[in-house]
Order: sequence, then structure tokens, then C-alpha cells
Amino acid sequence: MLRPGGAYDHEGGATPLDLGPARDQASDLLAAEDSAEVADEGEDDRALGPEPLERHRGAALVEHGEAGEGAGEQIVHEVHCNRPAISLTMRDVRGYGGRILYVDVTDGRSRIEAVSDEMARGLLGGNGFAVRLLLDQVPAGTDAYDPANAVAFAVGPITDTTVPGNSRACVAGKSPLTGLFFDSTFGGRFPATMKRTGFDAIVIGGRAAEPVYVKVTEAGAEIKPARGLWGKTTRDTVLAVQAVEGGDADVMAIGPGGERLVRFAAMGTYWKNREAFAGRGGLAAVLGSKRVKALVVAGARKTEVADPAALKALLEQQREPLKTGTKALSTYGTPVLVKPINTLGALGAYNLRREVFAEALAISGEEMHARFHDRHTTCLKCPVACGKQYEVREGELTGLRAKMPEYETIFAFGSMLGNAHPGSLVRANDLCDLLGLDTISMGVTLAFVCEAVERGWLTEKDLGLPFGWGDWRGMLRLIEMTAMREGFGDRLAEGAWRLAESVHPEGTRLVYAVKRLELPAHSARALKGMSIGYATATRGGSHHDTRPTPQYAQNFDRRSPDGKPEFAVKSQHFTAVDDSLVLCRFTSERGFGLYVDEPYARMVAAVTGWDMTAEELERVGERVINLERLFNVREGVRRQDDALPWRVMHEPIPDGPSAGAYCPPEELGLMLDRYYALRGWDGDGVPTPARLSALGL
Ligand code: SF4
Repeated sequence: MLRPGGAYDHEGGATPLDLGPARDQASDLLAAEDSAEVADEGEDDRALGPEPLERHRGAALVEHGEAGEGAGEQIVHEVHCNRPAISLTMRDVRGYGGRILYVDVTDGRSRIEAVSDEMARGLLGGNGFAVRLLLDQVPAGTDAYDPANAVAFAVGPITDTTVPGNSRACVAGKSPLTGLFFDSTFGGRFPATMKRTGFDAIVIGGRAAEPVYVKVTEAGAEIKPARGLWGKTTRDTVLAVQAVEGGDADVMAIGPGGERLVRFAAMGTYWKNREAFAGRGGLAAVLGSKRVKALVVAGARKTEVADPAALKALLEQQREPLKTGTKALSTYGTPVLVKPINTLGALGAYNLRREVFAEALAISGEEMHARFHDRHTTCLKCPVACGKQYEVREGELTGLRAKMPEYETIFAFGSMLGNAHPGSLVRANDLCDLLGLDTISMGVTLAFVCEAVERGWLTEKDLGLPFGWGDWRGMLRLIEMTAMREGFGDRLAEGAWRLAESVHPEGTRLVYAVKRLELPAHSARALKGMSIGYATATRGGSHHDTRPTPQYAQNFDRRSPDGKPEFAVKSQHFTAVDDSLVLCRFTSERGFGLYVDEPYARMVAAVTGWDMTAEELERVGERVINLERLFNVREGVRRQDDALPWRVMHEPIPDGPSAGAYCPPEELGLMLDRYYALRGWDGDGVPTPARLSALGL
């Protein structure tokens, strides 16, 4: 029943382009320059093995030895999956490795299970696989830092195919921030390399006695000592491990933030053309609690496609819409959103006391591009190249070369903090990447601190330094203190909600978070679809459960609650499917559509060989959402948890083009009633047996 097949028993080896009032500006952007300079850089020059897994013979990989001090000195644990792979149950299905690898870092044992046809067709991969595996693996009520929690990395049938934006993976676990199911996706080169190991999912459980890294190849897992890596930044860790394992291996690493169990710690992978981060939900801290510094993947197994001609025809058809729809992203990256969303009156500022930031121009994509642009960067084989390398050429941060901060990061460290210093945004983003912190949670937590200081709830003595609106130097220092849990940083590391609870009896009223996850930069007040979307999202304050993109379109009634529960349901099915395939949101939304529809069904059919319809795919999305809800219901989530930040429910936007917009509790209640009815859940938000049975759960 939608679970892995038989065990091998140790024998087997956001970014809208139709922007309503800002449409003219968006049109100008569509005509902007191409990103031809990176066209070749996203290519992969590594060799692929031609043989399918059935004929693959896993090489013996076990060595024995004492734990050493540094990266890759000797293998610590014996690995129990070193015998040749046996036949898979998925003989006629393409697009999959067909295997799931479980690794327990407590004793180094691992096992492999086959992916059943039912599980693949019913859940696709990525997000779908991860929630199924975690529901099975993690007992109810488990603390996120308990060894019984698990971290699942999962790819999907589209990963490492020719579909643009295919090098994408999902990492999931029980979040230390929300205490609920959480998945975060990331790009770069790592996802394609993981697919080449022939494992569709890698599940890491237990807790090692000493810091380790886990290396996964086509033959299975090795646990290697990483004491010498502990304390290093994400980038230094990746470089150090690649120096041992080779440049064709890819490394996902945690930083000091994850080691110190910062509840919103992020993990990162670096490749010459693009670094990528799984930022949200604190899953890097779960790895830190297991003393796992990094996951390393290396492989050469080719992903087979059932009908290459059909896939090629589909991609030909989508080429033009994708190219047109991503021009602005290719040129400026996501910061291009700052100006139009501010013009809409929907850019949170000063801890959401306002939604217009007077100095938005200074931190807009166009301004940052003009000042800092160095080169475009891209995930493996992606023609869009939405990433940018920046170089700061003026002021006291001169010489800083770092990744472009995304739109969400500019909101969190810029407008939310009343900070219009663009160079400091580049530095804050870089610090968070290196130290392993989620930029949205960090910035929104600091925004709460600014307001708490202003109200006298926190003092300079509490913080250990002066800090307030627009103080970018204080911001940079507090980021470092958070990652190291130094002084007041120890309290910041708990996230905005827990900090607020400890600061003042009414502290949580100032926190911009849902289910303790700090919200991103798509307004919960100005976009009514986001109101119901955030409230019902599995992850809480995430813009990747319900999508803001369609709501910026000129013909979308963003102010009225009418039809928004229906919209949220549809949008959530889309994101669940997208994250299960696994596809980049930008390439999928712009190339193949904003909802589950025919192009996605054709894509899945061409890759797997199934006679997939859009309706069946929609049910996959619904199934994944219901599994996520079951996980959260098991942890106690009910209707009262499907709430919005106090300010969103009680304080209308004070001025600007979206003045007056908010979502009072009564309005949210009516939308929840409708949403639960559409989902076939009871009035308390619990999935009914009848609906679960209809979904085969
Ligand atoms: S659009 Fe951007 S994030 Fe998506 S795959 Fe391409 S480069 Fe990566």
C-alpha cells in the first residue's frame, strides 16, 4: 500500500511576471537581455554508465579501520549492502533508480529496499516518498533532535532527465522549528548526482558517537569520520570533502548553525556554477543532532526514459513559453520582484507594520544588478540561470564576492528591518550561507527584535550591543552570534516564536509566523489566497505550499476571500506534485503551467511509460497533502493551529495601494470551513476515513 516493496535483506547492493499594476514594468523586463553568457556553463561533462540497475554489480566497498581525525581518513563502519543488486520490482517503469537506502549512523548499518510500483505511481518521488517514509520511520511525538527522527533526501522521476530545472531534490524530516513534517527542496548539481547513485531516497537515522559524513555510491553507504570538519563553514566543508572524494562527488553540508542546533539551520551544496541551499525548517540542525556534517553522493547511473521522442516533443512545445516567461529571472534573478511588489503595497516592512518600503528602490533587483552584477550562475543543465554572483565595489564592504540575495532575503534583511543598505544584504546572505542559517527566519526574527527594542521589551543590555531599525552592522553581528549561539544569539537561535514567548506575555502578537515558521515576502494580508494558503500549509509560513505566483496576475482578485479555498487546494496539489517529480518551481510554472494539468501528465507518461492523466496526477498531489496532514495531526495539529499571525488577523495594512487589507478571524474561519469541506476533512481539520480510503491510504 504505497510503501516500499520487499527489503533486499542485506543482499542488494516565486516569481510572477504578470504583476497587475506593475505590469508595464514587468513587460519591460521581459524584453531585457538574454543570459547567453552562461548557456554552456550549466553543462555536465561527467561520464554516465549505460547499464540499467538489474545488470549492475555493486562493487565491494567495505573497508575496516579506526576512526581518524579528519575528512575521509578511514572508514568507520562496516556497510551491509555490499552484495550485488537483485532484480527490481519496477522492471517496466523508467525514471527511477528503484531503491531506497536506509542508513543508521548510530552503528553504521544500512539496508536497501525496493521501490514498489504502487509507491512510485501513487506518490511519484521526492516530497511524496519523503512523507511516506517519515510517517513509517518516525514515531509520533518524537523530539526533532531525538535519534529516532530521520532525515530523508529524495529525488523523483524527472530528476536528471532533459526537462529544464530537473536537478532538484527534496530533503525532509520532523522540523525542530515547527515540530511537524517539513520538506525543503534545493538545486545545484547534487540532485542529479544523487539520482546517479540509483537511490531514489536516502534516509538517515540514529546518532553517531562522533562527527561523521555519509557517503553514498551506487553500491551503498559508507560512514566516514568528520571530526576535522566540525566547526567549518558549509563551503569549506564541501571543498574539504571534495578534496578527498573527488570533484565529481557532490556534497551537502551543514555549517556551525546546524552543529549548534539553531532551529532554523540551513544546509548547502556548492558547485562551480551554482551553490544551492535547503534553507527552511531547520533540517540541518536535525543532521547536526545526529552529528552528520555532510551527505556525499557519487554515481554514474543513467536515468532511462520510456519515450524519449514524446519527451522531446513536449519540451520543444514548451521551449518558447519557458524562454519568454523567464527572461526577467535570467537577467536579474528574483530581486526583480522588489519594485513591483512594493508598488502593489505588499512588501512587508518594519516587522510588517507597513507594506510599503519608502527606500525599496535602493534594494531593488535593477539597482543591485547595476551595482553588483558579476556573472550569471545556474543549476545543472538549466537554461534559465536565475542565480547571480555579485561583487561589492564600493563602501566598507568593497571586495565582497558572494551569491546574490534572493527576493525573500532582501525582504527579511532589508525592508523588514528598515534597512536600505544593499551591500549589507549581500553580506548577510553570504554569512547565513556560510554559517548555515535560513535567511527568512533569521531576518524575520531580527525584525521582531527591532520592534521589541523599540517597545522597551528588550534592551541593549539584553542584546549585548545596540540594535534597531536600519542598523545593518548590528544585524551582521547578530547573525554571527546566532550561528554560534553566543550571548543573545542563543535566544535568537530558537526562532522568532520561542524568543517572543520568553520576551513578553504579548510577544507572539508581533511575530510574523505560522506554525512557528517565519513568513516569507508574499503578503498574508494583501493576497487573500496566501491568507488561507499560509493558514493551511503543512509547513506553516511557506510560500511553496500555496503559490503566490498566480495571485499577482492582473485578472486575479487578490482582495476577496471568494474562491480562495478552492485556489489553495489546487495550488497545494500542484506544489506537492512539483516537489515529488522533483522540478524547479521557476521552470515548471513558466514552462508547463501553474496547476497540475496536461503538460505534467504528458511529462510523467513520457518518462515513466505510465498512461498518466492530469486527473490521476491531481490525486497524487491530494494524496501527498493528506499524508502530510496525517503526520501533523498525529503531532496534535487541529483547526486552532491553522491560524495566521495576530497582526495579519487584527491590523489592516495602514497605507499604500493595499491599505485596509487584512484577514480577520471570522473571515479566516469561513475560508477554513470551505477548505476542510473541499478536502473531505472534518470540522477540526482531520482527514476523514472515507477520503483517505478514496485516496488509497
Ligand atoms: S530556474 Fe534557477 S533555480 Fe531553477 S533550475 Fe534554473 S537556475 Fe536553478
